[in-house]
Amino acid sequence: MVNKEIQQVPLTLSVDLQQLISPQQAWHYQIIPAFKNETELCFFVSSQGDYTEKKEELQLILGKSIQFEFVPQEKIGVALNKFYRQHDLNGKVLKFSSENSNRFLERLLEEAKSLGSSDIHIEIYAEKARIRIRIDGVLVERYKLDKQEYPALVNQIKIKSNLDIAEKRLPQDGRMTLNQLQSKLELRVSILPTLYGEKIVLRLLSNDATNIDINHLGFEKRQLEDFLLGTKKSFGLVLISGPTGSGKTTTLYATLKILNEEKTNILTIEDPIEYTLEGINQVQLKESIGLTFSKALKTFLRQDPDIIMLGEIRDAETAQMAVRAALTGHLVLSTIHTNSAWATISRLIEMGIPAYLLANTLNISMAQRLVRKLCVHCKQEVTEFEGLKIPTPLKLDFPTSHFISVGCEHCYYTGFSGRTAIYEVLCLDEELTHMVRENDHRIEPYFEKNEIKNLVHSAWRLYLNGVTTFKEIYPILIN
Ligand SMILES: [Zn+2]
Repeated sequence: MVNKEIQQVPLTLSVDLQQLISPQQAWHYQIIPAFKNETELCFFVSSQGDYTEKKEELQLILGKSIQFEFVPQEKIGVALNKFYRQHDLNGKVLKFSSENSNRFLERLLEEAKSLGSSDIHIEIYAEKARIRIRIDGVLVERYKLDKQEYPALVNQIKIKSNLDIAEKRLPQDGRMTLNQLQSKLELRVSILPTLYGEKIVLRLLSNDATNIDINHLGFEKRQLEDFLLGTKKSFGLVLISGPTGSGKTTTLYATLKILNEEKTNILTIEDPIEYTLEGINQVQLKESIGLTFSKALKTFLRQDPDIIMLGEIRDAETAQMAVRAALTGHLVLSTIHTNSAWATISRLIEMGIPAYLLANTLNISMAQRLVRKLCVHCKQEVTEFEGLKIPTPLKLDFPTSHFISVGCEHCYYTGFSGRTAIYEVLCLDEELTHMVRENDHRIEPYFEKNEIKNLVHSAWRLYLNGVTTFKEIYPILIN
């Protein structure tokens, strides 16, 4: 998600420049041709790492004077995938062999990272083995593998993550750290024995949070102002609700980045740690050894924290501890699985939090979802609405035209590129605090009177503006 902006401004490349080097050379040296003349060749290259050696080797290979133009590594990654991909999406068998297995895995991870992907699925069936990568929340098939080579890849991943290569019948979980070309990559490894062999899911972790910017997540101006108001208080609860994969963690980290100052002590407990942020103390949840959210929270309170981030409120005990921590002068940020900002309040009361305590401690309750954005290169405006229906209780009207997804090389034929969050922000003002205390459930009139956008309105606006499709927001409309 972090790299989406870079992805949308790819380096351009004409065919004769592209043919200056082979795909192997491009990937090996991590370069993209920029321009050429009689005596000179210029390449885009990342400014990270040692490039003097690269330059000398390229001068020898290509027989011309070499110049470098420096661009961010992410741009190189995206351009390599775009211009020098060594397979096509129609599924040529990729030659993976035990000899090139190291490079293959490295390349696969580099590719997944440059696409801003969160997971890689490596799986085997009766006839074939394949690799799918999650791009913008949707799995896309990227490689087909020779079935005979599959065990070699599985073993390599097991060795790198210190798992038992002899164990093929039980699930295994591990972690893998790879020193990539320029950066360190942390992965969570999950192995599941299936009918035809072991399925592996690699989750890319430790994305550096420094690139997340709260201004680019999808907040509307007033929503962001309301939200920030609630996070600037020195104590209280800030809760974000939404299903798995709705971008809650990204919002939390964007917030922590703003709050991360020299004078504050920030502690987090998470499962898994998805981002790293310099200056905060992050703890990995380990339920198997008893390090649970509530246990960690108890210890945290003796560590003189100012701000605590709890990965998730899953049970009554954690909820009660979070409220207690907020009451005793700490700012507590967390997430919870509910459908809306208002449902979070009922949920906490169900968990045994007295309404008056909640009214005193809750600063912000916010709900969020992620929707895919249409690829700007191929989206198509149409006046057809066949088969589409607005769910009945909603007072919405179709526009005269709207956009549908098509698919092109820019978006890897998915029709979408990048995602945006949509929000519903409830900032507990005097009126709302009163409603919570009195257990008053007439929230709709409050929304209307105060002109607060709920998830449906936020989603509908994106659809009307041609940012996304009706199908993409439909799950939000029926919720
Ligand atoms: Zn496209």
